[in-house]
Amino acid sequence: MPESNTVLSPTLTLTKELISRPSVTPDDAGCQSAIAERLKLLGFSTTNLPFAEVTNLWAKHGSAQPLVIFAGHTDVVPAGNLDEWDSPPFEPTVRDGFLYGRGSCDMKGSIAAMIVAVEQFLQNHSSYKGSIGFLLTSDEEGPSKNGTVKVIEKLVSDGEKIDYCIIGEPSSDVTFGDTIKVGRRGSLTGFLKVKGVQGHVAYPHKAVNPIHRFSAPLTELCETVWDNGDEFFPPTTFQCSQIHSGVGDANNVIPGILEACLKLRFSPKSPADNLKERVEGILRKHSIDYEIVWDLSGQPFFTAEGKLSKAIQAALKTTMGQEAIASTSGGTSDGRFIAPYGIPVIELGPINATIHKVNERVGVAELDKLTSIYEKTLENLLT
Ligand SMILES: [Zn+2]
Repeated sequence: MPESNTVLSPTLTLTKELISRPSVTPDDAGCQSAIAERLKLLGFSTTNLPFAEVTNLWAKHGSAQPLVIFAGHTDVVPAGNLDEWDSPPFEPTVRDGFLYGRGSCDMKGSIAAMIVAVEQFLQNHSSYKGSIGFLLTSDEEGPSKNGTVKVIEKLVSDGEKIDYCIIGEPSSDVTFGDTIKVGRRGSLTGFLKVKGVQGHVAYPHKAVNPIHRFSAPLTELCETVWDNGDEFFPPTTFQCSQIHSGVGDANNVIPGILEACLKLRFSPKSPADNLKERVEGILRKHSIDYEIVWDLSGQPFFTAEGKLSKAIQAALKTTMGQEAIASTSGGTSDGRFIAPYGIPVIELGPINATIHKVNERVGVAELDKLTSIYEKTLENLLT
């Protein structure tokens, strides 16, 4: 598609403007102030809510209930090897119907679509029943400690009552609009230390090899069926993502310690405490000497069918001709911070094919369809 045919799309134009700001976590690179200026023109009140080095924006239009919020992140992952990009990652480029650039799909395209959808909605509905908010952070791709988690906590403690939340993460699988995310599995990490006794490989009776000691429990952890998932969630999975052991470059030393990283992505069928107990039960069963430090980075969440899902599905039906599959697959998202407050959260965005890769791209046509679906969702909820 030649560039001249696409310049009229306000969503494309805004996405390009955002991509040209190299906002690698936690640097927002001015994205949120540009967005705030644009929202102020529509009558939004905007509040900057920085925490540590993270930039966050809360913007609100109207004061009535229900309050529909769009949530998302302006930060992007690093570009990676620049030589592998066909065009520079922070110079938005349209080729063959796709917009290329870091963040085009995850998730500056969605943020632009949300903003243009709200502009069009307010143009067509000078009065409507409810209010609209934006919760944006520059800390989704990084530690996620000073972004959405802190902002939502503050909003709720300030008495803000949020009725519905739409997140722009790239939820589509094979074709645009085929999948919405109605929940995510939880994420639990165990940082394990297996202790042995260092010694000479020729004298194993005078040493305890933690690599050998860990092999049987690791096999059992890999073979364990944690649960079978349920109607909405795939089964809990276990992966050992890192193992470190050995003494420097010496290959004739039995090491005294092994460190491993254990990752569980879990369904609500297996609560985190239950998984911790089961993992440690296996470690104890094999009588290894160990220490483990657990990090629970996200509880599973699920949004049951209701007004929000119906409004989104109806908008998809109007724009795309069919409803989407409601899925809980994939990694975690900032929805994990919002859903625990009892707020229905659904993710809807472009096709998840190139995110975090070189030559990240989004279909130009996807941007306009997404804009239209967001706008119709607002109509379904607020008019
Ligand atoms: Zn994202």
